[in-house]
Amino acid sequence: MPNPINIGISACLVGQPVRYDASAKTSAFCVNELGKHVQYRAFCPEVAIGLPVPRSTIRQINTNDVISVSRPDGSNNVTEALAEYGKRVAKLAEKFSGYIFCAKSPSCGMERVKVYSADGKSAKSDGVGIFAAEIMKANPLLPCEENGRLNDPIIRENFVARVFAYKAWKDLLKSGLTKHKLIQFHSCYKYTVMAHDLIAYKALGQLLARADIAVEEMAELYIAGLMTALKIKATRKKHANTLQHLQGYFSKKLSPLERQELAQQIDDYRQGLVPLVVPLTLIKHYLLIHPLSYIAQQTYLNPYPEQLKLRYGY
Ligand code: SF4
Repeated sequence: MPNPINIGISACLVGQPVRYDASAKTSAFCVNELGKHVQYRAFCPEVAIGLPVPRSTIRQINTNDVISVSRPDGSNNVTEALAEYGKRVAKLAEKFSGYIFCAKSPSCGMERVKVYSADGKSAKSDGVGIFAAEIMKANPLLPCEENGRLNDPIIRENFVARVFAYKAWKDLLKSGLTKHKLIQFHSCYKYTVMAHDLIAYKALGQLLARADIAVEEMAELYIAGLMTALKIKATRKKHANTLQHLQGYFSKKLSPLERQELAQQIDDYRQGLVPLVVPLTLIKHYLLIHPLSYIAQQTYLNPYPEQLKLRYGY
């Protein structure tokens, strides 16, 4: 890959037998599908800090509101070592476009990690893996997900779309930031943002119209706003609304029958009768017949490689 999309990932998810029982937790989606389009950088923090494979289980323990990671009896406290390693990988992650963590791990879990009481008699699922926390704290805009959540088609699509958007942003910065490029970038993402968050759609447009801030500050505010907006789930209703806006560009170019067909497909999608790919395919078909450069450049139509088939399931 000449300009790869680098994604950090828990090593066990790509088949490395590094878990406590020397097994892997291979994610078929990550390896067989997404893996064809990105380059993984795999990390196992527990092995990296010197724990053996296989090893005794470790867990998060809350002692007077201080979270530590150790064996259930409190021995072999590795909290500091995991955090230190997390800080090192967090620096590398500045070059990544996403991170996929292994769920529930006291080191790698992104959320809902089990935290035991000091006496081991009770547990709450409200922790964050010590290693994962450092990565996310140092890279707040980095798209992050867990393997389990990626089984949900909407969350999966959302994560991949964010990864590709973040990569496009990094490429823009690498090419040299200018106000013109920033505006051009936004014009490509307009309908993507609209499908996620109408308020952000308006706010980002207003941000780019400001004349009182430097382009660097504008870019920082822009990417923070964009990545926050893309995290919001694009619902069926919001997609249907976005599709209708796109439909508007064709209204004068289509025959009454074609217009009716597109309107019907959007409505079928709104009602859950067909997946998103159906009206989108028709729009792309009309775009071939009636080229509209402004619409053709919209990432909403092609946010990531079609082979991932992420818009077939909802
Ligand atoms: S969850 Fe993290 S620490 Fe545990 S085996 Fe996988 S990569 Fe290693």
